[in-house]
Amino acid sequence: MSAHRSGRPSRSTVNADHSSHGWDAAALRRFRRQLSAWYARHGRDLPWRRTRDPYAIGLSQIMLQQTTVVAVQPYFARFQAQFPTVADLAAADEQEVLRAWEGLGYYSRARNLLRTARQIVDEYAGEFPVDPAVLQTLPGIGRYTANAIASFAHDRRAPVVEANTLRLYSRLLGYRDDPRSRDGQEVLWQFAESILPRKNPGLFNQALIELGGTVCTPRTPACDDCPVVMQCAAFRDGLQAEIPQAARRPELTDLIDVCAVIQHKGNYLLAKRRPEERWAGLWDFPSLTVSESTGTRTSKTPPAESLTVWSGELADHLRAEFGLVVELSGPVTRLRHSITRYRVQLIGFAGDVSADGVAVGRNSKTSSAKR
Ligand code: SF4
Repeated sequence: MSAHRSGRPSRSTVNADHSSHGWDAAALRRFRRQLSAWYARHGRDLPWRRTRDPYAIGLSQIMLQQTTVVAVQPYFARFQAQFPTVADLAAADEQEVLRAWEGLGYYSRARNLLRTARQIVDEYAGEFPVDPAVLQTLPGIGRYTANAIASFAHDRRAPVVEANTLRLYSRLLGYRDDPRSRDGQEVLWQFAESILPRKNPGLFNQALIELGGTVCTPRTPACDDCPVVMQCAAFRDGLQAEIPQAARRPELTDLIDVCAVIQHKGNYLLAKRRPEERWAGLWDFPSLTVSESTGTRTSKTPPAESLTVWSGELADHLRAEFGLVVELSGPVTRLRHSITRYRVQLIGFAGDVSADGVAVGRNSKTSSAKR
């Protein structure tokens, strides 16, 4: 153990030698050996680890952004069954792809994936590029995803830094500054590269991600079960709870949306969100955002006068957008949910179409789905 044991090191001391991380060749060999042995025994058998197909690997890594392994698994299986190859995906309609992605959130990932598939078919004859620098030019593929595809599929010696390894490296190094800052990123990527072996770098990257995801967890790292505990600066200094520095939470935006639930001959009217709208391309009840605020939380129950004004605005919207003259009553339902950086309060009004038949416009359709 080091001299730091008797007291916490100063910030400048802790951050002094990250580029070489203070490990000699023997320590580096020991780290690699212990991690690899641990992964061989404890690595989870995940579907995307059973393949070298860059399409399947890329798909899994994109799905795993901001989403847990448990949540991704059924989506990955369904998506693969529906679009087994990059060519199948490239030929798909955007609506089909969004439908298969429904519930995973962050829908720009699905749109970018489709654009990437089409680009690969059009410009690379359906073959994923091997070079991570080229992969990074594709829509939605950043440095991590490009390197993950290149190393997992082709055993390219390409380092990885994502949420799990960011935490793991920060703790191993005892890095107390913000690991998401430009300096922090430089330190971590350099560290990731320095520890990567020449042999089986893909497997080694998987092991690092697995250790970060299952042992070196955010709140209660299982240091007693950690194969590299003796080389961990955060453990040595008792700083696991402080490292990594917490990310600044994005400011939340409160939305109040009103929607019209219009039933006609057993069908419900749905509208497709326009390209310029939030959640573009998805289908929902015709709706309108009547309040949007950041920093100040909207009151829990809007006053009755506001509801009257909003239902009038919604009726005007239905007339202007869909040519529908609708009598609205209610509200019949109120829902609250949070999605990405939005806290949404959705207020539903029931609608009766006064004209004969529903005029379904360019951007709308009817659905017989019972709600
Ligand atoms: S010893 Fe603890 S804090 Fe350090 S890498 Fe292992 S699990 Fe993480």
